Order: sequence, then C-alpha cells, then structure tokens
Amino acid sequence: MDPDDGTPPAPAPDRSGGPPAPDGSRPDPGGLPSAEGTMPGGDGLDLDRVAAELAAVEAALGRLDEGRYGTCAACDGPIADDLLAAEPTRTTCGAHQPA
Ligand SMILES: [Zn+2]
Repeated sequence: MDPDDGTPPAPAPDRSGGPPAPDGSRPDPGGLPSAEGTMPGGDGLDLDRVAAELAAVEAALGRLDEGRYGTCAACDGPIADDLLAAEPTRTTCGAHQPA
C-alpha cells in the first residue's frame, strides 16, 4: 500500500535527472558547429583575396621578366608611374579598367 505509492514518485525524479544532462550537452555541440561554420566562410573569403593578389603579383613578375611590365594589356600603351605606384600589379593604363 505504502510502497505502491512510493514507487511512482521514485522513477519520476530519475527521468527528470536524465534529460537535463543531455540537454546541457546540446548547447556545446551546437555552438561548435556554429563557430566552425563562421570561420571557413571568413577564411575562404580572405584566402580568395590573397590568392588573387598572389596571382596578380606572379603575373606582374612574369610581365617584368618579359619586359612588358608597365604596359597596358588593353592598348599596349604605357601605364602611368603613379598608377603603378598605387597598384604595382596593375595591368592597364588609366584609360582602361582591368577585367
Ligand atoms: Zn590602355
């Protein structure tokens, strides 16, 4: 009689104690993927820009090797010194915009 009444209350607190643990663990794994998702995005953009700049520098060095550095790729005209000073990897003169 008495034990019958005491049995139900016992499992109840046990169930309550179970869920809280997994629930507390969820926020952690949930936060990690979120942070990882943000980092690749920023890194990807940065790497993209760095790779593009590196390619531009290598191309400029190649033109320098061929003696075409400072020559507009669009009109073969000279690229102004001040333009090259501001953008050493520039491939076009002031009248033309790089693709
Ligand atoms: Zn030009």
